[in-house]
Amino acid sequence: MKIALLPGDGIGTEIVAEAVKVLKALNLPLDMQTADVGGTAYDKHDHPLPPATLQLAQEADAVLFGAVGDWKYDKLERHLRPEQAILGLRKALGLYANFRPAICYKELVGASSLKPELVAGLDILIVRELTGDIYFGTPRGRRTAADGHFPGSEEAFDTMRYSRPEIERIAHTAFQAAQKRSKRLTSVDKNNVLETSQLWKDVVVEVAQQYPDVQLDHMLVDNAAMQLVKAPKNFDVIVTGNLFGDILSDEAAMLTGSIGMLPSASLNDKNQGLYEPSHGSAPDIAGKGIANPLATILSAAMMLRFSLGQPEAADRIETAVQKVLEQGLRTGDIYSEGTQKVGTAQMGDAVVAAL
Ligand code: NAD
Repeated sequence: MKIALLPGDGIGTEIVAEAVKVLKALNLPLDMQTADVGGTAYDKHDHPLPPATLQLAQEADAVLFGAVGDWKYDKLERHLRPEQAILGLRKALGLYANFRPAICYKELVGASSLKPELVAGLDILIVRELTGDIYFGTPRGRRTAADGHFPGSEEAFDTMRYSRPEIERIAHTAFQAAQKRSKRLTSVDKNNVLETSQLWKDVVVEVAQQYPDVQLDHMLVDNAAMQLVKAPKNFDVIVTGNLFGDILSDEAAMLTGSIGMLPSASLNDKNQGLYEPSHGSAPDIAGKGIANPLATILSAAMMLRFSLGQPEAADRIETAVQKVLEQGLRTGDIYSEGTQKVGTAQMGDAVVAAL
């Protein structure tokens, strides 16, 4: 089983190192190779996604990714910025289906900014389309406005677009995910204003006919943003486009108290996947040895389950994470009085011990 390790920038190297410790402790035949990505790759190879890194990722069964980005790269041209590496990998590997679970562990209920009764037992899965929408749509750019409110002034524009097959395949992914859970699916769009959203809704309704066992409902994205903080437990599986999914999945992440706990998976139609924590490179705490490695460790568990066909090993990791939380070990981001504060490496060691 070939795994490409792309630690990236900031806390990326620290948290991926802990996930590797855990993977090694499983004693599986894993071939792990590391490559540069993001700002680190730009510094060494003048590009955030060098050809050798892309090749390693393409030849692997799965990619375990840390995080990329640092404010010091903000002045680079957009195509050279660290974040472009993620977009490039998604595009090159065809990773159109993004799974973002938001689970509130009972030990961490107090870390949420919402009332405990609203989040205790929360378990939402957001299925986000990842290779279309306004992030990839063309044309885009800057120009002098020919019309609009201020003709003759500088303007910028992006293009929101979705094709029927793009919506169909993510809808199938979401219905199948819902079938494995409580068989409830909410499709989120903005069909009262956007043509792309109207097509989205029409196609999702058509695909639903093939999944009569799944209860489908629709919600406008503005309402979904409100309902996520008002009554998050009413959701089970949410399916939505790239832009809305980006925002709603971060909102859902914060319901659980710490973004440092949340894994994610991005898959293509061959189950090849990129697995990464939901958070960024956290430059503010990089190099201090205090980042929470659990989101990355849990991403490794998703990798074993979805891309490497090792569900038992995935279960073992998730149980081990649950155990260290029960033991009261906490990194700073999830620390509360009465628990034991530990650093990144200690947390990784504790998960290995619990395995
Ligand atoms: P961020 O997720 O890096 O950090 C937000 C806050 O959460 C910070 O206070 C940080 O210290 C904290 N945090 C994040 N992960 C943590 C962890 N594992 N343990 C403890 N605390 C943690 O978001 P940001 O500050 O907006 O962005 C920083 C950089 O990361 C930017 O360059 C951004 O573009 C990039 N970014 C990358 C990804 C990615 O690689 N997929 C995703 C989001 C942001």
